[in-house]
Amino acid sequence: MSKIMAVANQKGGVGKTTTSVNLGAGLASLGKRVLLVDIDPQGNTTSGVGINKADVANCIYDVIINEVPPQEAILETQIEGLHIIPATIQLAGAEIELVSTISREVRLKKSLAMVKKNYDYILIDCPPSLGMLTINSLTASDSVIIPIQCEYYALEGLSQLLNTVRLVQKHLNTSLQIEGVLLTMFDARTNLGIQVIEEVKKYFQQKVYQTIIPRNVRLSEAPSHGQSIITYDPRSRGAEVYLELAKEVISYE
Ligand code: ADP
Ligand code: MG
Repeated sequence: MSKIMAVANQKGGVGKTTTSVNLGAGLASLGKRVLLVDIDPQGNTTSGVGINKADVANCIYDVIINEVPPQEAILETQIEGLHIIPATIQLAGAEIELVSTISREVRLKKSLAMVKKNYDYILIDCPPSLGMLTINSLTASDSVIIPIQCEYYALEGLSQLLNTVRLVQKHLNTSLQIEGVLLTMFDARTNLGIQVIEEVKKYFQQKVYQTIIPRNVRLSEAPSHGQSIITYDPRSRGAEVYLELAKEVISYE
């Protein structure tokens, strides 16, 4: 069985990239074959697993726009079983170019279909918008993981995201599901964090992952070393919780 999951929320800074990299690394360290797909022009997942963007020959742009076979864009990472289709700044033009492209919403789906069988999990790190790249990601996916930061405006903007999910379900991908809602950057010292958890659980109920990601400084340091938390500091709380999350994700297989 293989599963394609989009990590999506149009808000920036909620933990999409941190989750893609570290959940991916966690799943791979548990023996799963994982492909990360970086579809954010910022390319933070790409650099986050230690890939120098200047050395990238084919990126996700070439796959979606120029129909380069995905096999020719896939790179290995330092973690065994963790591969990536990288993104470079070239992708910034794709949002506009896709508008006038034939079968624009299903480009990514068609490409990933060629490699899906080689992986247990494909994780797509979405950009902070609800444009064509996110639509492509949701169309290509079996399910979506929604990271929500434990902060005051946590639920703001979620109705737009859920609307987009519904539209994709109606017109492009009837089998798209919500995989889970992940609470991130939780700070146990504040009442606010606890309130947000209650609010999100009221709204999403059993869709909320039991694993809650706390604020952990090691998680924010790891990307500048081009490493996942699992390799950067395996004893940190951040590594522990992302491994827990990986186990929880596997338990819903
Ligand atoms: P997004 O991809 O949604 O924009 P990121 O994953 O890039 O969000 O996270 C935004 C910033 O917060 C980054 O600098 C990241 O290192 C930091 N960060 C994310 N999760 C945590 C966490 N649990 N603890 C501490 N810092 C975090
Ligand atoms: Mg990101």
